[in-house]
Amino acid sequence: MHTTPIWVTRSSMPDFEEYIEEIKPLWESHFLTNMGAKHLELEQQLEGFLGVDDIALFTNGHNALECVFEAMGLTGKVITTPYSFASTTHAIVRKGLEPVFADIKPDDYTLDPAKIEELIDEDTCAIVPVHVYGNLCDVDAIEAIARTHGLKVIYDAAHAFGVKRGDVSAATFGDASMFSFHATKVFNTIEGGAVCFHNHELKPLLNQWKNFGITGTESVEYVGGNAKMNEFCAAMGICNLRHLDREIAKRKQVAERYWERLEGVPGVVLSKPQQGITPNYAYMPVVFEEQEFGATRDDVYAALMALDIHPRKYFYPLISDYECYANRFDSDQTPIAKHVADRVLTLPMYADLALEDVDWICDVVQGVRQ
Ligand SMILES: *Cc1c(COP(=O)(O)O)cnc(C)c1O
Repeated sequence: MHTTPIWVTRSSMPDFEEYIEEIKPLWESHFLTNMGAKHLELEQQLEGFLGVDDIALFTNGHNALECVFEAMGLTGKVITTPYSFASTTHAIVRKGLEPVFADIKPDDYTLDPAKIEELIDEDTCAIVPVHVYGNLCDVDAIEAIARTHGLKVIYDAAHAFGVKRGDVSAATFGDASMFSFHATKVFNTIEGGAVCFHNHELKPLLNQWKNFGITGTESVEYVGGNAKMNEFCAAMGICNLRHLDREIAKRKQVAERYWERLEGVPGVVLSKPQQGITPNYAYMPVVFEEQEFGATRDDVYAALMALDIHPRKYFYPLISDYECYANRFDSDQTPIAKHVADRVLTLPMYADLALEDVDWICDVVQGVRQ
């Protein structure tokens, strides 16, 4: 017997008592937001955990991305990937920048550096690649292109919390990296996000942009928004960070069970950890090549949904095919991204997913072939 529904993910939470203990001081301080003690504490802990020079916390990853674009004063065109969550392109467009889509690599679905240079012109100001599913972008090639053309690189690292190349954290690449601490991510603060960066001069700017552009008690220098992480969210982060290594270890077991069961099934393309990378097992993307598999991604989706198992077509549709961007982009220009988006399914993946349930899901997937 299986307990359903099985959702694509399930938020990690500390013990109730642990969280209550963490928020108790707030009933003494009555300091609930505006960069209070918990906010500061979480920033310091994350700086250490991620091994970064500097970090700023936000209400969520999306606002973090918008604020870093503003703080850097970007204008013009931004080269990015259509194979991501809505947030990446929406942040670019909402800040008055023009997205230019480059195709992805067929092996790890990250932005293909070989497709970037031909899209650069005098209006290009930045590259915004995404470490999709926690797969690290080709950061060296992207860095070299950015240096040659004088472009900023801001990584959407929403999926890459805890990912490392050798001993080096994914948070250290480019000029800045955005993380999402949304409830569904590997590390969560309920809602939350951060920007990691090297240039310390960005810190006051980011803090001002996330607080209405206020620069002093009697001065407001920027048309900023409100994107400050509150103390209750920061406290959740402090608790969750204590258990993160164990959560990732449990995810590893789930991932390995999937790979064991699905490896070698004709037409099933798995996204295994890259060479030299410590993964975080954030997602379980599977691409179904209908010719070899004998059924489509949508057939698999329907079979799982019929049993109250809820995978996600993540990422489908491509951002360049969204209704809100109708007639602005041509997704045929990024054929690999289109191919993957039409065939990908992310299967349920979270630390507490029972291995018997993974077996069941894999049985259902295999059964679709017959
Ligand atoms: C979750 C996510 C975001 C947005 O983060 P929020 O914290 O939900 O605002 C941005 N980009 C990607 C790739 C994401 O998965």
